[in-house]
Amino acid sequence: MELTPSSRPVSDILADAVAGTRISAGDAHELLLKGDLIDLGLTADEVRNRHNDPAVATYNIDRNINYTNVCVYNCRFCAFYRPPGHEEGYLLSTDEIGKKIEETLALNGTGILMQGGVHPDLPLSYYTDLLSELRERYPDVHLHAFSPPEVKFIAKKERMSFHEVIGALKQAGLMSIPGGGAEILQDDVRKEVLAYTKTSTEEWLDIMRQAHAHGLRTSATMMYGMGEGLETRVEHMQRIRDLQDETGGFTAFISWTFQHDHTDMQDVPETFADEYLKTLAVSRLFIDNVTHFQTSWVTQGKKIGQLGLKFGADDMGSIMIEENVVSAAGTSFRMSQEEMEHLISSAGYAPAQRTNLYERLVTREDTAALAARYSHALTFQNRDLASPLPIIS
Ligand code: SF4
Repeated sequence: MELTPSSRPVSDILADAVAGTRISAGDAHELLLKGDLIDLGLTADEVRNRHNDPAVATYNIDRNINYTNVCVYNCRFCAFYRPPGHEEGYLLSTDEIGKKIEETLALNGTGILMQGGVHPDLPLSYYTDLLSELRERYPDVHLHAFSPPEVKFIAKKERMSFHEVIGALKQAGLMSIPGGGAEILQDDVRKEVLAYTKTSTEEWLDIMRQAHAHGLRTSATMMYGMGEGLETRVEHMQRIRDLQDETGGFTAFISWTFQHDHTDMQDVPETFADEYLKTLAVSRLFIDNVTHFQTSWVTQGKKIGQLGLKFGADDMGSIMIEENVVSAAGTSFRMSQEEMEHLISSAGYAPAQRTNLYERLVTREDTAALAARYSHALTFQNRDLASPLPIIS
């Protein structure tokens, strides 16, 4: 995709964004190159407030359940996967997944984000049986699961179309699809980091298109800082904006920086907070058709994560009862609901828990009955998350 450079002054581009006039890919590139951090933040904040309640910032309580770490792919940025046959490979049983769901409910949670490595031996029936069983056992839990690389692999294994696979998963209980596996939607970069075979740019977009055609909402993600150029990040954002124009199916844009420990790409220089906040702000200004933007406290830490709320984000994401993928790459943060609410309120917003689809706010009264019912499920490791004390570090 050819990017037409913009020769407009940064101030004109920002004025357009505030006025609701769509800016071009060249404009977004110019902002990344020349925009002042504070100006970008103030402008992104104005746009954020046009799309969202200016007084409120949201978060959710769900759990990342990585049902398997066995994966046929070997993305260079991934420290989580284990190849088939590896002694550290695992596949969780339905009961083990159920226990994790019960613990999530005990912590006032409303859903799970379930995705794994791409296990070569699992047929479509594994996924549909799992979804049906979870649907039956936990009818109140939102099942946000199976990102495009998993959908692609099932389709290939079963000789089905993406549309057919997603239809079968939806029929079995799938409620939305996470935007994982996007990394950078540009095939040269995907080939370089060995992410092309798991899904090409077009395949990732088409799986999302088919999900939206089935009425399933999905998130859109971007993981950057793998040595790609700024034009490439803008190209990624353009792909997301274009598909959103076509389908309107993305709930949120979630971006974070590559974490390199224990990966095959440790020589890539780290991306720091200034670049993170600028990229967040520019994504909010350029992708003008997605309502919610998340700030990534999981990769940036709690303090920069909180600051993201002033750079275009309206949402802090999940409290992360469990996280295995980023922590495998050396970055590990967790927080209690109380600490999340403290972080949000100390930034000047009313904290509000939301569902996975952002379609409504959740009160403690909504979650109280299930939390009490499953309180026995809290494990020693996660009891601290139920603590009422803020523990900012
Ligand atoms: S990022 Fe996903 S697809 Fe790639 S190696 Fe890791 S688990 Fe497998």
